Order: sequence, then C-alpha cells, then structure tokens
Amino acid sequence: MQEKTWFQLIPQSEMINWRRHFHEYPELSFKEVKTSNYIIDILKSFDDIKITQPTPTSVLGTIVGQYPGKKILIRADIDGLPVTEETDLAFKSQNQGVMQACGHDTHAAILLATTKVLNDLRDQLHGTVQVIFQHAEEQVPGGAREIVASGQLHDIDAVIGLHIMTGLKAGSINIVTEGAATTGADAFEVTIQGRGSHGSMPQEGIDPITISAEIVNQLHTITSRFTPPKDLNVVTVGQFQSGVAVNVLPDTAFIGGSVRTINEDTRQAIAQRIKKIIHNTCDTYGASYDLNYQFAYAAVINDGQLSQLVKESVLDVLPAAMVPQGQMMSASEDFSAYAKVAPVCFFLLGGGDEAEGYPYSNHSPKFIIDESSLINGVKAEIASVLNFLKA
Ligand SMILES: [Zn+2]
Ligand SMILES: [Zn+2]
Repeated sequence: MQEKTWFQLIPQSEMINWRRHFHEYPELSFKEVKTSNYIIDILKSFDDIKITQPTPTSVLGTIVGQYPGKKILIRADIDGLPVTEETDLAFKSQNQGVMQACGHDTHAAILLATTKVLNDLRDQLHGTVQVIFQHAEEQVPGGAREIVASGQLHDIDAVIGLHIMTGLKAGSINIVTEGAATTGADAFEVTIQGRGSHGSMPQEGIDPITISAEIVNQLHTITSRFTPPKDLNVVTVGQFQSGVAVNVLPDTAFIGGSVRTINEDTRQAIAQRIKKIIHNTCDTYGASYDLNYQFAYAAVINDGQLSQLVKESVLDVLPAAMVPQGQMMSASEDFSAYAKVAPVCFFLLGGGDEAEGYPYSNHSPKFIIDESSLINGVKAEIASVLNFLKA
C-alpha cells in the first residue's frame, strides 16, 4: 500500500456528520424525499457537479473530467427499513418505526465523500464519473431497476458499489473477484383452493391440507434431485397455514416460500418446477390454485476483470491484511440490476465484528457499526475509479 496525496482531500469529519444526519432521519423505500434533497444540497455545495433525478427520490451526479475517457458509475443506496431502533446512539432515529438498519446511511455518506474528492481531482481525470444515490433497495422490485429503466444511464463502462456489513473486521474490504457476490432471492405464495366438508366425510370434499403437504414435500426434492450439487440454491417453505377445527376440512391452504440462487438458468428452472409441482398436484386431486411467483433480485455476478482491478486498486491504498479473501454475501441486493448497464463489481466493507464490539447483524434493531471503517470505503471507491479511468 501507498499513501496518496488525495487522502488529504477526504472530508472525514463532514462525512461522519452526513452519516449521522442520514441515520437520525431515515426514510422508507420510495419515500426518501428529505434524504434525496439533503444529498442534492451537499452535491450543490461542491463545485459544478451536474445533478439530475432519474426518479423522484434518487439523485444522479456527474463529474466530467478534464480529458476524454471511459465512464464509471458508483452506486450507494439510501433507504431505511421499517424497524424500530433499539440502539443508544446519540443520533438515534427520530422517525418512529424507521431505521437505517442496513447501513445505507454510511453508503450515502461514503459516496458523498468520494464525490467530493473526485470532483476536486477533476482537472486530472480522464473520463467521466457518475454517482447514483439510489432509492428503495429494501423493497421489491427495488429502485435499481427503475434507475436502469429511466434511460438516464448512457455509455457506462463499469458499475461499482459497496455494502457495509457487521461480522467483518472494521474497515476491511472483501471482494469476490469472479462470480456470485450475493445470492438472488425470489418468492412465491400459493393458495390452494379445495372444497370444505365435515371431517367425518372427507369424500365429499377436496382436502387442501393433504394436497399442500404433498406439494411441500415435493418442493424439497427440487434442490436435492433436480439441480447439480455444486450449483448453490435453497428452496425454503416459510409459511403453511390452513384449517380452524379438528373436525372440519377447510376450503383453502396457503403456502409461502423463498428461493435463493446464484445462476440465472437454475433460477428459471426452479421457478418452472415449482409451478409444475403445484399445478400437477392440484390437478391430481381436482383442486385449483392461485400462484403468485415473484422474481425479486437476481444474484450479483461480479465481472472478473473489473473485480480484479478493484482488488488491486484497494491493495494499493490499504494494507493487505485489510483485504481478505472475499466471501459471497448470503443476502440479496438489487445492485444486480446494474449488470444490464455494464460489467459490475460489488464488494463488502467490514463494519466491525463481534470481537470488536459489533455483534448485531444488518437489519437488527440494535445494528451499529464502527464509524472509523467508513474512510476505507472512500479509499476503495476512489482508488478503483482512478485506476479504472487511468489513461
Ligand atoms: Zn438490507
Ligand atoms: Zn442493504
């Protein structure tokens, strides 16, 4: 690693103030009105950044470098979660029932600091840097899809983004250099419509409980019998509801589940098999069904070349001990939508682990992170951009 002169340009204390402001005034997905206005005000205080809003609560900033070159997009998500905060922070949420429980407050603050520095370096830049402060990561179908659909992203050559996460050493940067950086997550809900009857006369009815039990059992054969062992996927039934009395066959039963995959073909194949199992089982017993299958977020698949460049860039500004072998994040992220625009690299910023005093996971009402880790997120973003745009 090497000290860089631009380290001096990072607005450290301002960044912490921005982060605390975002934390104190969180807003839910698609409702980030004050948050986006606050971001716009800060971007305006930097010199000459072009600002647009691809959607009502997102903000796109553009820094045009002195010289022609490539174009890179950096993404931060900005929304909070419907969680009631249970921390003792001095800047605890003032919005009852809403919390920045996934660390998006840090993402926004880091990207503002990154933007400030890159804007200060504009005279030396070959190419264009765009920064997207994205709304609604936490609520399917997600804001990323809308940003991509807005038509405001043109001729982008690469997209990078980071996520802070506890359970990882504070300030460490964890990059998967090829392949799945997150799993994809989809969901299904099905209501089986049978016909109710007296418990002593099942022949008069169509028993949705028996049918649903068969469906659940067959769903559990998908991963074990229809997908290759190395192709990571999970099919989980998390909801199963039916019946009100021991001697009454109910009319309906409800099954809800989630599907995690890292491969698009497998994702589609599993969806088809789930539909087939439900259809055929209902057909056998003369029941009908109402299935809602929701393709939510695809897996984030890191581009090999870009991710290698990001890793080398980070190693240039941080000690190797802070850049461990990257691990796949076992959650999903709508960042995957940007793969439609350009090659992507998504990496994790350690927010502190249990031994460092940060035992609560993202989305916990007690979620806290080590603020000193933020600066490494800024360094990672800036180093990657400068390296990518190098003439
Ligand atoms: Zn989250
Ligand atoms: Zn998140």
